Amino acid sequence: MLLGAAALLSACAIQPPPRNAAPYSLRTAPDADATPSDAYPSPDSHDPLTGDQSGSSAEEGATGAPAAATEKPRTDATSVPTSGSNHIPAADAYAVPAAIVHAWLATRTGPATKTAFLTFDDGPSSLTPQVLDALKALHVPATFFAIGRSLELNPAPAQRAMAEGHAICLHSYSHDYAYLYPGRVGNVVNIATDFDHALSVAKRVLGPTYAPGGYRYPGGHMSWTGLEDADVALAQRGVSWIDWNCMSGDADAHPPASPDEAMARLTKTFVEDGSPSAAVMLNHDKAGAHVTLATLPRFVQFFRDRGYRFGIIG
Ligand SMILES: [Zn+2]
Repeated sequence: MLLGAAALLSACAIQPPPRNAAPYSLRTAPDADATPSDAYPSPDSHDPLTGDQSGSSAEEGATGAPAAATEKPRTDATSVPTSGSNHIPAADAYAVPAAIVHAWLATRTGPATKTAFLTFDDGPSSLTPQVLDALKALHVPATFFAIGRSLELNPAPAQRAMAEGHAICLHSYSHDYAYLYPGRVGNVVNIATDFDHALSVAKRVLGPTYAPGGYRYPGGHMSWTGLEDADVALAQRGVSWIDWNCMSGDADAHPPASPDEAMARLTKTFVEDGSPSAAVMLNHDKAGAHVTLATLPRFVQFFRDRGYRFGIIG
């Protein structure tokens, strides 16, 4: 496991630089440290949350217009992903390749500058625009692990997330445990077929240049057995699987009923994992995750109080 992670890290370090680095990016190439700049979180710096997107969020959140009506060809170069990536060029400054984040999790290491990755699974949903509003107010970027089927039904929040500097990774097309893991054992053919379907949907929704570096297994890699072949199939597609090392607990059998309880779950899981310098926090932007939404400012403050910057998983 350690050797595999080291190989991933090494392979990452020799990749060519991004083709369209943001003009204010502090990095020109992924490196082993890969500390993102604070271009996004700092209110004083240029950040993709300001600009001509203002006002659109409330409208999108309020109208509830049929999502399919908003699916249209995307021609604005600032709101589509850098070719071969899962985020816009302006987000390069704080994006870390998924292979590096995977290695940090696998080896329980991290960057020199503590970095938090807020991740949201199971969207897009009717809650996602509100999550985006909250992230915009907090000046924090996040990574959305989207379900292909939901992207197909409700593409607008994912398109908005992309345009506002967040990253979109994939979380299967079907989210069907019985199909992906019959008998709780990974089925490589089904997982790969399902992934390819999700990717084709995502390219249609987010643009043909979209390419995710990260995939989160529904339920998490840690929950199943026999995923070795599926891991290889994903790697052959340029994708690393990503679990987490702290969480809000919003998908637990007994999810937090209040922000205080959600903060207690975060604190407990964060401490149990040894206060990792690369903190990958599991949340959900499914329709019922209102406690998570309400607690987001406190989650962000938790990490800021401990000196973390915020990054996205590229
Ligand atoms: Zn899920």
